[in-house]
Amino acid sequence: MKISEVKVKSIITKSRIPGVDYVINPYTGCAHGCKYCYATFMKRFTNHPEPWGSFVDVKINAPELMKGLIKLKGKSVTLSSVTDPYQLLEKKYKITRQILEKLITVQPNLSILTKSSLIMRDLDLLKQFKHLEVWFSLSITDKSVRKELEPRASSIADRIKALKELHEAGIRTVVFIAPIHLRSDWKGVIRMTKDYVDKYVFDRLNYHETSIDWLKIRQEINDYCDDNNLKHFIIF
Ligand code: SF4
Repeated sequence: MKISEVKVKSIITKSRIPGVDYVINPYTGCAHGCKYCYATFMKRFTNHPEPWGSFVDVKINAPELMKGLIKLKGKSVTLSSVTDPYQLLEKKYKITRQILEKLITVQPNLSILTKSSLIMRDLDLLKQFKHLEVWFSLSITDKSVRKELEPRASSIADRIKALKELHEAGIRTVVFIAPIHLRSDWKGVIRMTKDYVDKYVFDRLNYHETSIDWLKIRQEINDYCDDNNLKHFIIF
């Protein structure tokens, strides 16, 4: 793993994601190295010839760059869109933690998207946000498939445990079932998590699996959620 400490010019980025005003990415690259990752295009933007998952740039000055954060007051902010803010390096660098400490002062409408149970380290800060959703990305229930496709993300059991603890702490939880592909098990994910989840979001992202009939799966998801009385779900 090639790890570089870098200084960047800005950290708060205007978003083109529908419904999201700003994104914050404390790292470039992601050590989780998911095989289907939608963010691999960042290699081109950041001149990284290495394989995705084998490099991470740590934006060590990110917390200092939160000066203009007043503009985030009341805005929707996602942490993060092209990296995982709680990949293992965060344990050492605490960049995400420092960003959260700054964000608390302006109380944005914050969504944190992760595949890592390390987020539980920051429960003390998370509890101080008035408008927070923690999104756990989870689409697989088979341990060996998880190890193959998401080699360095938290285990399925650890993610579910974190969801449960967040829910019990009164934090709104979302399970992001994406990407949906032939080896994902969205019904299994719902069965294993529905007691701790406020909302499900389904997406195939840019995962091009030609044998998938997305329209048919969309209908199946709709029917399944209706049959199981899941009131809050979104299918992209
Ligand atoms: S955790 Fe997210 S950003 Fe990181 S490799 Fe996996 S899909 Fe990509």
